[in-house]
This record gives sequence, C-alpha cells and structure tokens, in this order.
Amino acid sequence: MPFRPRYTGLIDKYRDRLPVHDDTRIISLGEGNTPLIRLNNIPRECGRDIDLYVKYEGLNPTGSFKDRGMTMAVTKAVEDGCKAVICASTGNTSASAAAYAARAGIAAFVLIPEGKIALGKLAQAMIHGAVVLQIRGNFDEGMRLVKEVAQNTPVTIVNSINPFRLQGQKTAAFEIIEELERAPDFHCLPVGNAGNISAHWMGYSEYLEHGIVNNRPRMIGYQASGAAPFLRGAMIDNPDTVATAIRIGHPQSWELAWKVREGSDGWFDECSDEEILAAQKLLTEKEGIFCEPASATSLAGALRDIDSGKIPAGSSVVCTLTGHGLKDPDTAIRQCAGGVISVDAALGPVRDAIVENLA
Ligand SMILES: *Cc1c(COP(=O)(O)O)cnc(C)c1O
Repeated sequence: MPFRPRYTGLIDKYRDRLPVHDDTRIISLGEGNTPLIRLNNIPRECGRDIDLYVKYEGLNPTGSFKDRGMTMAVTKAVEDGCKAVICASTGNTSASAAAYAARAGIAAFVLIPEGKIALGKLAQAMIHGAVVLQIRGNFDEGMRLVKEVAQNTPVTIVNSINPFRLQGQKTAAFEIIEELERAPDFHCLPVGNAGNISAHWMGYSEYLEHGIVNNRPRMIGYQASGAAPFLRGAMIDNPDTVATAIRIGHPQSWELAWKVREGSDGWFDECSDEEILAAQKLLTEKEGIFCEPASATSLAGALRDIDSGKIPAGSSVVCTLTGHGLKDPDTAIRQCAGGVISVDAALGPVRDAIVENLA
C-alpha cells in the first residue's frame, strides 16, 4: 500500500516506553517527529570536518519542545481527573500548557514574569484562553509561588518538576537515534531549568540499556552568561539575558543535570548575549533556519567548542533548537536595523533598489 499510517503524536508512537495504558485518553496535537537537519554551509565555512545537525524543535505544534512534555503531563493530569493545570513560565511552557489544556477541555493558569516574555508566547497563552497572571518578579519567584499555591488548590503543576514532562521529552533522543542509526558523539542543548538535558540523557540511556544502540553522546549544556548558575556552581538571584526562555537562576533539575554531566562525561559552558544573537543570525542567513535566541545558545557554544577542538574533528554533533524564531519577532527585527528599504510604488525605484543590492 502506498500510504503510511497517519502520524498521531509521540505518545502513540512510543506508548511502549511511556507511562500510559491502553485505555488512556491521549491529549495530543501531533507533537514530535521534528526534522533533524544536517547543516551544510556553516560547517563548510568554518572549515571543520564535523557532522553537524540541528534538531528543529521549533516545529512542534506550539513552536517549542515543551509540547513533548506537555502532551504527557496533560494526558496524565486528565487521566487523574484533574480540571486545571498551572505553571510558571518564561513563555514556552505557558504557550504549550494553554494549548494542551484547551485541547483537553480543562483550565490553564500561567504565571509569567512581567515584561520578560517574548511577544509570540504571550499571544499564544492569551489566545488559547489561559488565565495569565503576570507577576512583578522573575521565573524563579513564579516557580516558588506555583509550588506553594498548588499545595492547597486543585491544580496540577505542569512545569518540568512534573515527572511526566521529562518522560515525554526523552522521545527526542529516540528520534535522533532512529535517524542516525546510532547516538551522536555530542549533544548540545541550551540549559535553563535543565529538564530537557536530563530528559535527553534518559532517552539515550534507555535505548542503550535496551540494546538498541551501543553508544551515548557526551552531553553539553550551554547557558547565557547572565543566567549561568551551572557555571557559577550555585543558584543566582537576578538572572538576565536576551534569551528570555533561559532567564533562570534557580534551575529545578539542578541535581539531575550534574548527574548528566558526570554520567556522560560532558560539560557546561556559557555564551554571551552577543554570541547567542550572532549564532541565531548565522543560522537564519546561512542555513535558512529560524530559531529563537535561547535555542541558538546550543549552536553558539558548539561552534566555539568545535573551533577550539574541544569537540574534535570527525565528530557527529546534534544541537537542539528548542523553539521557533517567530516566538520573538521583536528581538529578530532589532537585529536587522536598516534591513527594510522604502521605495515608491513604481518600476524605476524598485528596479534601482534591486540592481544596487544585487552585488
Ligand atoms: C524551556 C526552554 C529552554 C530550557 O529548557 P530547560 O529544560 O528549562 O533547560 C530552552 N529554550 C527554549 C526555547 C525553551 O522554551
């Protein structure tokens, strides 16, 4: 038969490896199954013999990897009879929680830091009908409040401290292995709460334990310099970075992430906001791939470590692009000052502008 079965989301695909039952009502928007794109131009131009891939998680239903965890978290919340979910968020978790709650027909409450959330994410939380509580404080304060309020309110927390989130997110590692037919040598991720790097390590480890592969990658976590508790070796109180998705000073998966570093013989490093934005632009201009600033942290760090030889020539490297560039149009446009040319609606000026810019 020339037709393949319809893709119906990652819980259906990996149900044997996820905590669901045959009769579990699955809340899905077709998340997962994202492209693993091999970079062509960037490795050639930096003159390094590297097999460099990006896992474009921005192509999930709400535009970030959070959907992988949210399909699981909301499915289990509904299975347990819960009528409302709650999260603190730098943006993408709120967008995802709002969408999956809408799909499930339950309520969503989201706490976001005032003024520090990208416009697209705010729009998503609002349009899906979540109750948006904008707090005069940062993510870490929102997270503390969510934990407190959930103790005596009938709401289920869907932040990555909800163990079902990491279960869903581990499937990204499964997909990478299935495409490469092995695990890559290195896997680079941006790190905020460090749930995702921990989830990937779980996924890689599971496929190793089950004999599906015989290798695991070294895991590298990159943080923004202004929000780099793993580099400082301690929590920090006033994180700041243009990469708002990882503007986190008190990571929730602190212990797990250190174990990932040890278990995988990996490392943490930091990138400046300038490096992050440069990598975002490089990827858009050289490869046609638009990710949000936080996501570009993985590539920014990887390129530096490839350049220094810390990631040796001949390696295969996967960088996770955690979220879509359209999430944060303001930051993108700010990087392109002078990028739009105004002309009269007449052939002459239009042709002149083209000819001038052809060279
Ligand atoms: C949530 C998020 C991160 C950080 O993931 P953690 O699991 O918190 O480390 C990175 N990038 C984007 C775009 C995100 O939405």
